[in-house]
Amino acid sequence: MTRSSGVELFIKREDLLHRFISGNKFRKLKYNLEHAKKLNATQLITFGGAYSNHILAVAAAGYEHYFQTIGIIRGEEIHPLNPTLDKAQNMFGMQLRYVDRSSYRNQSDKALIKMLGIAGATSYIIPEGGTNNLAIKGCTEIVADLKRLPDYLCCSCGTGGTIAGIISGINGVAATKILGFSSLKGEFLKRDVEKLLLAFNGQKYQNWDINTHFHFGGYARFKPALIDFINHFWDLHQVPLDPIYTGKMMYGIYELLKDGFFKKGQNIMAIHTGGLQGIEGFNQRHGNLIHI
Ligand SMILES: *Cc1c(COP(=O)(O)O)cnc(C)c1O
Repeated sequence: MTRSSGVELFIKREDLLHRFISGNKFRKLKYNLEHAKKLNATQLITFGGAYSNHILAVAAAGYEHYFQTIGIIRGEEIHPLNPTLDKAQNMFGMQLRYVDRSSYRNQSDKALIKMLGIAGATSYIIPEGGTNNLAIKGCTEIVADLKRLPDYLCCSCGTGGTIAGIISGINGVAATKILGFSSLKGEFLKRDVEKLLLAFNGQKYQNWDINTHFHFGGYARFKPALIDFINHFWDLHQVPLDPIYTGKMMYGIYELLKDGFFKKGQNIMAIHTGGLQGIEGFNQRHGNLIHI
C-alpha cells in the first residue's frame, strides 16, 4: 500500500491453490468431497449461473476425484458455450442441464432435481455457491494456514460461507477483525452469516462486519472505475483480480484506506479467493476490458 499511510497490506493467494478449483471453492469442496466418498456417492449435482466459479470448480473436482458431475445452469443454453461452461463440459465432462430463470429462482434444489429427473441413490447434492457446514469447516483452514494473525482479515462475500469459515476459524481469540466485502446489493448478508455461524458451531462473534458499499450496482455488475482499478493493480503489482469478487474487495480496501479507516501501524491480510477463470468470459461479453 502507499508508504505514507503506514498500513501494510498482504495478500494470501488462495487463487494459486488450483487452476480450476480456485481459492475458496477448493476449501469449500474439500470436506464435501470426503463426505461424498464416505457415502459412496458416484455423482455430484450442483447449481449455478453460466459463468460460475463454483460450477467449474465442481466439474474439475469431480473429474479429479472420479465423480460424475451434473451442473444445473440458470438460463437457456447459449452456443457457443462460454469459456466457463465449455471447460466444465468439454474438459471435465460435466453434464449440463439448463433451467429457465423463473423455475430456477422459485423452486427448491430438490424440486429442480426432481423436475429434471436426475437424482439417483448415489447422488451427492451441493447447493449453489457450495455453502454448507462442511464448506464452512473447509474455510476455517484458511486461517489455520496463517503464521501470524493480522489486525484485519478481508475477504469478498457472495453467500457468506467463506467469511463464516474465517470467523469461526479465528474463533474470537485474537484481536483480529474480519471484514467482508459484499459483491451483492443489499443488507441481508450480515444476517445470513450470523445464521450460518449459528448452524455451524452455535456461536455469536462480535469481531466482524460486512461492508456493503462496493458492489458496483450488484452481482456481476461493474463500472469503469472498477475495471480501471483492476488493470492498474495488475500493472503495479502483477496480481490479477477478478471483476466479480476480489476486484471489488480490493477496491473497497483502498477506499477505506483513503478514508482513514485503517490506522498507522496496522496490517491487513486480504484473502484472494480466486475467480480468475471468469475473466475470459467477462472479456468476451464486455469487450476485452480487463488486460491481465
Ligand atoms: C464464490 C466466490 C466468493 C464468495 O464466496 P462465499 O463463500 O459464497 O461468500 C468469493 N470470491 C470468489 C473468487 C468466489 O469464487
